[in-house]
Amino acid sequence: MAKISYRVRPETAVLTRGFDPKLSVGSARPPVYRSSTFVFPSPEAAELAFNVVLGKLRPSGDYRPDLIYARLNHPNAEILEEQLVPLERDARAAAIFNSGMAAIFTVLITFLERGGSMIYTRPVYGGTQHLIHNIIEPLGFRSIPVAAGDGKALAEVIGQTDNLSLVLIETPANPTLTMTDIALAASALQRRPRRALLAVDNTLLGPTFQHPLSRGADLVIYSATKFLGGFSDLLAGAVLATDPELIQTLTGTRALLGNILQADECWILDSRLSTVALRMNRQSKNAQRIAEQLAMHRRVRRLRYPSLFDDQEQIRIRDAQTDYPGSLMSLDIDGGKPGAFEFLRRLKIAKNAVSLGGVETLACHPMTTTHSEFSAEEFAAAGITDSMVRISVGTEHWRDLLAEFTRALDAL
Ligand SMILES: *Cc1c(COP(=O)(O)O)cnc(C)c1O
Repeated sequence: MAKISYRVRPETAVLTRGFDPKLSVGSARPPVYRSSTFVFPSPEAAELAFNVVLGKLRPSGDYRPDLIYARLNHPNAEILEEQLVPLERDARAAAIFNSGMAAIFTVLITFLERGGSMIYTRPVYGGTQHLIHNIIEPLGFRSIPVAAGDGKALAEVIGQTDNLSLVLIETPANPTLTMTDIALAASALQRRPRRALLAVDNTLLGPTFQHPLSRGADLVIYSATKFLGGFSDLLAGAVLATDPELIQTLTGTRALLGNILQADECWILDSRLSTVALRMNRQSKNAQRIAEQLAMHRRVRRLRYPSLFDDQEQIRIRDAQTDYPGSLMSLDIDGGKPGAFEFLRRLKIAKNAVSLGGVETLACHPMTTTHSEFSAEEFAAAGITDSMVRISVGTEHWRDLLAEFTRALDAL
């Protein structure tokens, strides 16, 4: 596209950058470039591209190396990455992966230094917890969990941990929605003599409602399978940063692991970006209306949702770092596990499935599904009970959803 030289807002940038129709026979939408290898204009160009990619030569100006091989980079990944950047406040570079877990693993294996430690908030996504226990710790890295939302403890542990390489915050935490103060962690990290990175898993509220880079985070991580993809039909992950060198280091690892997102998936995900804010806004409005009604139902013992926080510190963090409450809620239902299962069995519009962020409403029982790898101690520490159901609200009409949830609760 004709390059726009003035600043435009994210909704405009996502539709106007990253792709030049002139390079693709005038096609208004990017084509899918299904090619594993790319032809060089000359042997000299091939030599130069390899020297730049292997870090032997620093490119001058805005020279971009010719494409080499699709494990390193390919046109659809480049287009997608350029279009992701304006959606994330203060981001200057992005790297795309073939799942959220691939993104998290690549961040950890790239930035944990030899003998290094990491700190993470708990609860985290079940897969992340499993990755830390089963791969990161056996490789010899130390990992220290800190309760989500406990800023004082987090700052203390950041101050005291030897050889700290990385802090991973998931906020709001899944499935309890407990929020952790990103800016507070960033300032605790700044007081350390040696740089350690702050990474935030922004899957639950980003990129529309929460902006970790503008609060001092170094890396923002996504399961793009969720809100970015939005239709529960693809797996993808993304990492964004203000510092392009961090992304370059990461794509170096990605080139070796081969976990770049494939061309077709990039093309699909790319077509979803212009509606991320539209979908998230609608889903958040739906969820807020439903949550505030369901919280009063006699069969609901506790409903966790950001607009219903009652803890003063949680309210402070929510107001400081999030724009809207989002579309995830967790409710503790009367009658323990049987009550929760009975509720799930009665749902017809909402589907009993894990995952979140899609246009269709999904509900699950975290203790026996997404978080079933947790130990009893981890469940207790995280506040995940056997009566808890997590709901990800979609774009259906909120009155239909509220009526269905109310009917299912009434029948218990
Ligand atoms: C789903 C999810 C992940 C993992 O992403 P995949 O795309 O399933 O690999 C990581 N973090 C959070 C918060 C998630 O919800």
